[in-house]
Amino acid sequence: KKLGIALVGLGNYATNQLAPALLETQNCYLAGIVTGSPEKAKSWAATYNIPEKNIYNYQTFDQIRDNPAIDIVYVVLPNFLHAEYTIRAAQAGKHVICEKPMAMNAAEARQMITACEKAGVQLSVGYRLYFEPHHLEMRRLATEKTFGRVKVIESGLGFTVPGPNSWRLDKKIGGGGAIMDLGVYAIQGARRTLNADPISVTAQAFTFDKEHFKDIYETVFWQFEFPNGTVAHSSTTYSSYVDRLYVTCERGWFKLEPSFNATGAQGITSKGAMDVPSPRFQQTAQMDAFIQSIQNKTKPEASGEEGWKDIKLIGAILQAADTGRKITIDWRV
Ligand code: NAD
Repeated sequence: KKLGIALVGLGNYATNQLAPALLETQNCYLAGIVTGSPEKAKSWAATYNIPEKNIYNYQTFDQIRDNPAIDIVYVVLPNFLHAEYTIRAAQAGKHVICEKPMAMNAAEARQMITACEKAGVQLSVGYRLYFEPHHLEMRRLATEKTFGRVKVIESGLGFTVPGPNSWRLDKKIGGGGAIMDLGVYAIQGARRTLNADPISVTAQAFTFDKEHFKDIYETVFWQFEFPNGTVAHSSTTYSSYVDRLYVTCERGWFKLEPSFNATGAQGITSKGAMDVPSPRFQQTAQMDAFIQSIQNKTKPEASGEEGWKDIKLIGAILQAADTGRKITIDWRV
């Protein structure tokens, strides 16, 4: 049976990516919605054939517990609400997918993981690139040492500043600007390609436009050291467009450019083109894979722990930038 997903928060990402992707998924479908807007409720019900009984608002959200048509709650709200709605969905007995960045800080991410474990439900983070063919190919080339051992990685993702009124610029809502919004991808570019986690970080942060970036950084650079000696130099910014992942090895290189955006990657290696397909919606494989881990009772590839790791690393990057010191990452806590 196809499992039913309810999207919570019908903004840009839910509207333009997740809902259309859910028309193409094999293992799940758009069964319900949670929205504060009666107009959106009406138009989504018509477009996606959603019955009245599967439509909730933020006051009735917890009643989703009594609805067997909803198996999974997908939290697509601004970042400061991720923890609250993930925990409430778990307490309602529903499996959860939470959008990135998973939480405002590592402690919150840990609470979300614990709440899902306690409720006996599965938790995943909306990491579409964990299933994207170009990114899987980068990981394969690194782990199979096709060009020898990986020596240096460069990764960066930046967009021009979202409109001055965007919640992404408000630290209380977005959690910290570009590093929270886009930094997770640059972190993963290194971490996922290598299939390893960094042991230390140094970082530098810059803000030129002090009018829009009041208590957050406009641009952040950081350097990770990995246990096998590989180093990564990464960046994220709201001041200009950059989207690349470049990996140099003992006997060659491979890269994606563009790399991280949802509209598709392009790859090349020192031996020539990278010939892998681009899916129409990266989220199709992401959501179908999560359903399989629910059905097989296995740990999701894009698990809560994966989300926690990235949030913990963001904390370490900011600490390194704020203090100018090299921060050692203690993965035991
Ligand atoms: P958005 O601003 O377009 O949508 C957010 C929605 O939440 C809006 O419909 C808004 O009305 C609703 N909302 C409900 N309660 C709210 C409250 N108290 N305050 C503010 N808004 C409230 O944002 P978006 O671009 O759709 O992003 C939503 C989430 O999805 C973010 O966490 C973002 O990081 C993530 N996202 C992920 C990807 C990806 O590729 N995985 C891409 C874009 C966005």
